[in-house]
Amino acid sequence: MEEEKHLIFHAQIGIKKPETIVNKQNACPFCDRGSLTDIIEEKDTIIWLKNKYPTLENTFQTVIIETDNCNSELSIYKKAHLYRLISFGLERWIALSKDPEYSSVLFFKNHGPHSGGSLSHPHMQIVGLKNVNYHTNIRGNEFEGICITENNNVTLNISSAPRMGFYEFNIIMNDLQEVETFADHIQNTVHYVLNHFHHSCTSYNLFFYLHEESIIAKVMPRFPTSPLYVGYSIPQVSNKISDIAAQVKAIYYPIQ
Ligand SMILES: [Zn+2]
Repeated sequence: MEEEKHLIFHAQIGIKKPETIVNKQNACPFCDRGSLTDIIEEKDTIIWLKNKYPTLENTFQTVIIETDNCNSELSIYKKAHLYRLISFGLERWIALSKDPEYSSVLFFKNHGPHSGGSLSHPHMQIVGLKNVNYHTNIRGNEFEGICITENNNVTLNISSAPRMGFYEFNIIMNDLQEVETFADHIQNTVHYVLNHFHHSCTSYNLFFYLHEESIIAKVMPRFPTSPLYVGYSIPQVSNKISDIAAQVKAIYYPIQ
């Protein structure tokens, strides 16, 4: 199959997608668990299923419903559930990434009104792309930055050359054995973004990458996207990243 740069979006399916972030009175389809179809796998309260609104051509779109609690959030999960969820997602994503049917496989999460998501019920997505290889859009230096903490062979840093800007947190590990430390850093970073970062930040994305020999999670606080990035592909880096790194360290990793 020929490699493509663009995914084709099916607008007639997109228009039917349910929405509960802006219109909070709308019924949540993920709470109506008896009506869910095309379930692939269940583990505890986690459900992995096919996306009912597959808007992207030549892809395999799936959703991981993280919990049966519509109002919960990754930043407040108990540790046992956090580890179960991150392990489950990483294992299924990595397995699908090895399927030769896909050029590459996306694993990501949207949260909040500026994240691009449409449902507030906590969920993640695993999407197999038949003709698009995301790796060709990745520069290695977008995962480099000022180290916040490093232990058990897992690193948390803040990007010094972010892919979009202004602040991006990277959690990097080389081995699934360290998944609990990896999950702790994701949870701490998301908690920081929603509680201690910019007072108006209610949105973030979590993106996962298989890059060289590493498994990487990138936490991106989201605001309306910079026009310099949208129009000219010019990323910006804040001149305050050292201060933010020091603050995260002081709150979540006080004594090393
Ligand atoms: Zn719900």
